[in-house]
Amino acid sequence: MARRRDLGGLIFIDLRDRYGKTQMVVHPEESPDVTAQAHQLHAEWVIEADGIVQERPQGMVNRDLPTGEIEVKLTALTVLNPCPALPFQLDEADKASEELRLKYRYLDLRRPEVQEVFMLRHRVAQVVREHFSGEGFLEIETPFMVKSTPEGARDYLVPSRIFPGHFYALPQSPQIYKQLLMVAGFDRYFQIVRCFRDEDLRSDRQPEFTQVDVEITFADREVIFGTAERLFVKILKHAWGIDIATPLPRLTYQHVMDTYGSDKPDLRFGLPFSNLTDCLRGTDFRIIASSIEEGGVVIGLCVKGQAGVSRKELGELENLARQCGLPGLLSLKLTAEGLAGSLSGKISEAQAAAVCKELKSETGDLLLMAVGKKSAVLKGLGVLRRLLAERFRLFDPNSHENPSLFWVVDFPLFERNEETGEVAASHHPFTGYLTEDEHLLESEPWNVRSTAYDLVMNGSELLSGSIRIHDSAQQAKIFQLLKISDEEAQLRFGFLLEALRYGAPPMGGMAIGLDRTIMCLTGGSIRDVIAFPKTNLAQSLVDGSPSEVDPQLLKDLHLVIQKPKS
Ligand code: ASP
Repeated sequence: MARRRDLGGLIFIDLRDRYGKTQMVVHPEESPDVTAQAHQLHAEWVIEADGIVQERPQGMVNRDLPTGEIEVKLTALTVLNPCPALPFQLDEADKASEELRLKYRYLDLRRPEVQEVFMLRHRVAQVVREHFSGEGFLEIETPFMVKSTPEGARDYLVPSRIFPGHFYALPQSPQIYKQLLMVAGFDRYFQIVRCFRDEDLRSDRQPEFTQVDVEITFADREVIFGTAERLFVKILKHAWGIDIATPLPRLTYQHVMDTYGSDKPDLRFGLPFSNLTDCLRGTDFRIIASSIEEGGVVIGLCVKGQAGVSRKELGELENLARQCGLPGLLSLKLTAEGLAGSLSGKISEAQAAAVCKELKSETGDLLLMAVGKKSAVLKGLGVLRRLLAERFRLFDPNSHENPSLFWVVDFPLFERNEETGEVAASHHPFTGYLTEDEHLLESEPWNVRSTAYDLVMNGSELLSGSIRIHDSAQQAKIFQLLKISDEEAQLRFGFLLEALRYGAPPMGGMAIGLDRTIMCLTGGSIRDVIAFPKTNLAQSLVDGSPSEVDPQLLKDLHLVIQKPKS
């Protein structure tokens, strides 16, 4: 039961279960025994109640409750299990720390609004299964104890008892196994599957998370996009009741990076960037001149109608910019009285006019600009853009009317690890490349575009995938470019290379982040959409893992623990 109220001689008890709340009423003069028992009840006790369902008296109807027209007149009551005082009040859970709620997650999960998330999650999973089954896909499970697959993150390892010093890895994704299923002739596969990645956690990441994993043989991008779009049409109709138009827009990686500073921009609001370097080349203003001399750029955006921001607010925006990793923020306010802001008077009138033209701005607008190395400026402005949109309320984060949903295509095949300078696969090393870029593989690997794609909704990457390399010679070439030696390639995924030689069909696929999708549908953090999530330190507070284990277990596994000196 959720609550007991003693009112005007009557006792009201709210009974709560997964399906909602029902009010029960006890009349003391009619049933003194039940009344005595009812007086003992406290929140969260488990009870069995018998009674008569009756209409509520005139004036007592509660239109906010689906059961608000009736109540149950109690005739018998049994306490099945009492409950001690709770560590936090369920109807005041937002006052409790997240740690406490995660420790008592089973209590937190009792809250109706939390349960709704999991009901939606269940229904979306059903939509997914129906969709893929309806389109002829087979759901096939792949192993959880595998050879480590190169998906870019660190593996969680499982030590072997039988082979000392040998380990299984928990799969970062079933990538290799689904490709093997294609070689085996299962032309359309899907699986709702858990994946494990030991990486630093962010607000939208968890060490174990769920993907809808998909692979199709003889598929080009159109086949994959169509399959995914038909699914998302159903999911959004189901969750939000909205219709989305397909085919979805396709934007190139280069375009979204240059225009929004992110490979997953939120396009519910504008704020596109313009490169203003040419407009400002030759300026005397030191900050800009010296940066351009060093090969830097000036990139800016226009916030419509916000020229009225005060000096103090501009200072706050500069602080925000610094938090986004930008060294500072330059501004021009196009007021009716003329130019204001930190750049006014620092650049010539012609330069200011060129900047305004480039940013398609007019009187009343606020122009913000950052200076520095192109990649850093784009990255910083990309983060700032979102914060500006929130601050100036350029979109309604709670509206479901016009989601920003589109494909990003033509990702670079390789990326350079900025710290180590090493070449890495941008997606995973089994991703194909555009044939028209093949001639660049050796000479300009950075400019080779891959066959990878992402689906982005409201600033979150919901899906990623690619058309694969199905030719073992081509695959070997990519390993060579990635500086993975033949020996290492053989050792790590020789079994895939071998399989590719046995008549592997062309194939492509995708993985949809199920947790992310639900998170996007419901709002909130990734921890809200996982029944038993981990903290940012990858701890499970509900069971206290990770924890030390029985020394005998370690012995059986031939493991000796060497704790780091702190
Ligand atoms: N295995 C990839 C991933 O987890 C998805 C794919 O390419 O299908 O991101």
